[in-house]
Amino acid sequence: MSRDPAPHLADVLAEIQARMGEQIDRGQVADYIPELAATDPNQFGISLVLADGTQLSAGDCATPFSIQSISKVFGLAIALGRLGDQLWSRVRREPSGLAFNSILQLEYENGIPRNPFVNAGAIVTTDAALGNRQPRDYLAELLTFIRTAAGDEQIHINQAVARSEAKTGHRNLALAHFLKSQGNLVNAPDLVLGAYFHQCAIAMTVAQLARSGRFLSNLQRLISPDRVRRINALMLTCGHYDGSGEFAFRVGLPGKSGVGGGILAIAPGRASIAVWSPGLNAQGNSKLGTEALEMLARRTGWSIFG
Ligand code: GLN
Repeated sequence: MSRDPAPHLADVLAEIQARMGEQIDRGQVADYIPELAATDPNQFGISLVLADGTQLSAGDCATPFSIQSISKVFGLAIALGRLGDQLWSRVRREPSGLAFNSILQLEYENGIPRNPFVNAGAIVTTDAALGNRQPRDYLAELLTFIRTAAGDEQIHINQAVARSEAKTGHRNLALAHFLKSQGNLVNAPDLVLGAYFHQCAIAMTVAQLARSGRFLSNLQRLISPDRVRRINALMLTCGHYDGSGEFAFRVGLPGKSGVGGGILAIAPGRASIAVWSPGLNAQGNSKLGTEALEMLARRTGWSIFG
């Protein structure tokens, strides 16, 4: 084996890209957000940043896509920065075993969402991060955080995607109003959802996304190591909703998915990895993205489970 990991990894990424290019069943592109429905499912990109700062990429790594729920990781970092452990009185830290947008659990658990990554939990987390500010002030802080993490000032919000979800996001409206009725939302549902839809509409390339995750791999210091460890724990147990167990089994890395087809995966101390392929599996997680990460984890031995 080569001493320098980079050439070997470049081959692995090229092989993953080639394998993904052959796949016939690419999953289903999310169409409940009309603006995402027309995305070409034949795209695939992978990028990773190593501890020495080397970045390797293959495939469509310069095409911006909607990061959607991956934004919940950054929103959580900001909410924890503002509220600290007080956040945990409003949202729990358990896998839900239900779909990301499920309403079911919220009623019998009295308006306390299972975790910050299901939609109900992310809406509460956004409300907490918002505090008594206007959405534009929260979104400016969020963009600054992500741009700093990625080292890239170009990252922006795709307004058409945000508008498209605002027009059709009735299920999230239902969740927000229910949370409000249970006293677990400080701000008005419309205000919180305005912030939430815009946060989900942040667009990034897979190369930018990989760089933005360096702080979670402890390759860059943006928040405390304690907080990094806990966010990783939540990504591992809850980051893929009712597919989290399967993702841990197959990939073995903390990861956060979004319905835009992106996944950010963290190999602690080693690498920050991003994949993108728009077709989703039944749980709403990127189908080929998961397969690509499974291949990568196997080839590199990066699973946190050894
Ligand atoms: N904006 C999307 C929603 O709320 C995010 C869902 C996701 O990426 N899993 O439905």
